[in-house]
Amino acid sequence: MNLTAKVLLGMALGLAVGLIINLTNMNAEGTWINEYFVNGFFHVVGKMFVNSLKMLVVPLVLFSLICGVCGIGDIKLLGRIGSKSFALYMLTTAIAIATAIAIAATLGIGEGMNAVSESTFTGKDAPPLSQVLIDIIPSNPIAAMANGEMLSIIFFAILTGVSILLVGKKAKGLVSNIELLNEVMMKMVSIVMSLAPYAVFCLLAKAIANLGIDLLFQLAGYVLVLIGVLLFHLFVTLQAVLFIFSHLSPKTFLRKVRNAQVFAFSTSSSNATIPVTLRTVTERLGVNNSVASFTVPFGATINMDGTAIMQGVATVFIANVYNVDLGIAGYLTVILMSVLASIGTAGVPGVGLIMLSMVFAQVGLPMEGIGLILGVDRILDMIRTAVNVSGDAVVSTVVAKSEGKLDVDTFNDPNAGVFDDEETHIDEAAEKEMAQAVKAAHDK
Ligand code: ASP
Repeated sequence: MNLTAKVLLGMALGLAVGLIINLTNMNAEGTWINEYFVNGFFHVVGKMFVNSLKMLVVPLVLFSLICGVCGIGDIKLLGRIGSKSFALYMLTTAIAIATAIAIAATLGIGEGMNAVSESTFTGKDAPPLSQVLIDIIPSNPIAAMANGEMLSIIFFAILTGVSILLVGKKAKGLVSNIELLNEVMMKMVSIVMSLAPYAVFCLLAKAIANLGIDLLFQLAGYVLVLIGVLLFHLFVTLQAVLFIFSHLSPKTFLRKVRNAQVFAFSTSSSNATIPVTLRTVTERLGVNNSVASFTVPFGATINMDGTAIMQGVATVFIANVYNVDLGIAGYLTVILMSVLASIGTAGVPGVGLIMLSMVFAQVGLPMEGIGLILGVDRILDMIRTAVNVSGDAVVSTVVAKSEGKLDVDTFNDPNAGVFDDEETHIDEAAEKEMAQAVKAAHDK
């Protein structure tokens, strides 16, 4: 069995076990299943795995982006890749939310429902755009890395790469060392990925065990429309973008992007999925690292199609529940706000709700409305994160193809980049040789 199959199996078993625990109420406070498994073993293993993915993000983005910029070697091309991917990310997000509003409004979801929200939600103010722009430049790059501020890290890495190019020949040694570091980081991604089947099982068993399944039924209208629009965006809109702009096969794309989707689904975090997305996009889809090293972390931060869809559907739903007529101007504000909000917020679990509160504050919808959908957000977050990551992969592929940086043979080869156990297998002869070399250097 290859890794994808194993991960899918882990996912299915995790869903099943979680569902059994949930439906038999074994997740209730005080039961041994809850104590030792749901909040014990599953929680610990799942969190350890998510931490190990997050551990890779900053060094991987830094090294691969410096390599990427040095690999491009042309500052103008860098500018083109930047502006194309920014335009496509914004465009797909705007289409996503517009589709969501149109479908939800046509179906009139939430009409005639009673507005009794059990949980309260305290929103956050939107960071002003001016602050987002200022924060792109880190006053302290080490602090930016320590806090995982992706846009600042991207900026610093690009500037480092450009400066290395300007230093020229003298910096050749440095470039090959950074390339090596990048390779080492990619190896670490393989090691972490090889543990994924077990971790995905634990993550899903815990998430589903704690899910308010009855709530899903009570809010069936909202949940079904949202999932419907998410699937529409994934299978129709994004594939149309892929086909129209680059004439590549959506079927091949969808088959190859599955690994990244499963990781996004299990972790609910585009950011934590960056290492897997980067590997999938470069090794499975054939996007050159010079493009992917920029578009993938950039997309994880500013591109959130799935989240935008949730905001569109939730706005219509809550406006209807509270009998507020937003009108065309109101909905246009919602579209603009959520596209802007996606730029300044990172792809981490649950951030979509915070963005929603920014949108609500802008159009004057009651914040308590968010309390209505809070209970079902956990599972919807998983699904929309998978859509977010798929959007990043589509745009990376389209931009790479348009710049001649896509290896079409790799894209079309069904076995390209398939993870095999050899990747994490230590070659004993090489290990011995390395130990001898280190010893010799030491003796000298
Ligand atoms: N969890 C999502 C992501 O990481 C963001 C959200 O919708 O909450 O992309």
